[in-house]
Amino acid sequence: MSAPPTTRPTLAVWKFASCDGCQLTLLDCEDELLALSGAVTISHFLELSDTIIGGPYDLSLVEGSITTAADRERIRAVREQSRFLVTIGACATAGGIQALRNFADIDDFLSVVYARPDYIDTLATSTAISAHVPVDFELRGCPIDRRQLLEVITAYLAGRRPNIPNTTVCTECKRRGLTCVMVADGTPCLGPVTHSGCGALCPAVSRGCYGCFGPTTDPNLTSLMGWLRTCGMNDDAISRVLATFNVAAFDTETQGSPP
Ligand code: SF4
Ligand code: SF4
Repeated sequence: MSAPPTTRPTLAVWKFASCDGCQLTLLDCEDELLALSGAVTISHFLELSDTIIGGPYDLSLVEGSITTAADRERIRAVREQSRFLVTIGACATAGGIQALRNFADIDDFLSVVYARPDYIDTLATSTAISAHVPVDFELRGCPIDRRQLLEVITAYLAGRRPNIPNTTVCTECKRRGLTCVMVADGTPCLGPVTHSGCGALCPAVSRGCYGCFGPTTDPNLTSLMGWLRTCGMNDDAISRVLATFNVAAFDTETQGSPP
């Protein structure tokens, strides 16, 4: 990141195709919210207030994927108004669960889901924000982790890079001293290929990770698939467990067939 801002920076939060869960993570920072609102001017955050202060904005947090032609234009306008742009969540960083459409014919969905599909104006794909505009930092998760969000904002205010390690959920298990659910119990788990950030939430309650933080850099999916088969999963079950919130990102890693 560049030098720390000299005046109180402005913060904007933007929504594209998404469920709002990642934006709400900001409001979940209950203990830190007063300090945060003293450190930044929250200028555009419709989940918080309909009062809008015009841009440009110092820090933009962008939630959601690009699924319509209008949003494809809107994200360019957001980028132009934003000095530093951070994408938050699986929708914004990987296209989200709505990227399941990328592997099917969108017209088939329209005819089945909507009584009047002629009202629907949508793209055939759901894509990450970085597919459309330059992004300064990506924060993963579905939803994102509040501690990581605070770290990103704090880092911006301090003019340094966020300390968001590119490790796996396995690393977090080891740090917490958790017994590996896959080795000890034979529970299928995507922890070895999934980006850290949640604090090993699922293994801590004896569940396998299903990858909501998306693939880490250079995941060894070929090796993991062998382990998942050992745990009793067939190829169909493996495809389905990869075809959730980060389906497009995991598909990029496998270069495989659609889920
Ligand atoms: S990443 Fe998950 S929690 Fe965040 S907006 Fe998308 S669906 Fe909601
Ligand atoms: S699914 Fe994996 S990444 Fe998501 S909360 Fe559970 S352990 Fe963490």
